[in-house]
Amino acid sequence: MRRARPLKRHDGCAPLSKRPQLLAALAAYATDSCNCRTPHPTTPDQAAHVIEAIVDAHHQEDFALLLAGLGRLLEPCPATAARAAAAAEYKSAPSGA
Ligand SMILES: [Zn+2]
Repeated sequence: MRRARPLKRHDGCAPLSKRPQLLAALAAYATDSCNCRTPHPTTPDQAAHVIEAIVDAHHQEDFALLLAGLGRLLEPCPATAARAAAAAEYKSAPSGA
């Protein structure tokens, strides 16, 4: 028999009662375009360029370039949803397979 979820699972986690407020604040922060100092891809073409650079860096064992490319795909950005959609569209495109 499973117990009900605890109101707070880990130190540092927001309590369940604050999650709606935190999700609303996160949604207010979200944008469709990236204005970060190091730009993040928000179109399929940009995502393709970054992903291809990551693959090249891996093959060349250039770990600095590899980390930079992974950062452009994974680090926090207000346009995270647009970036994810661009990467998903790239992945589903026939040439992106
Ligand atoms: Zn960004």
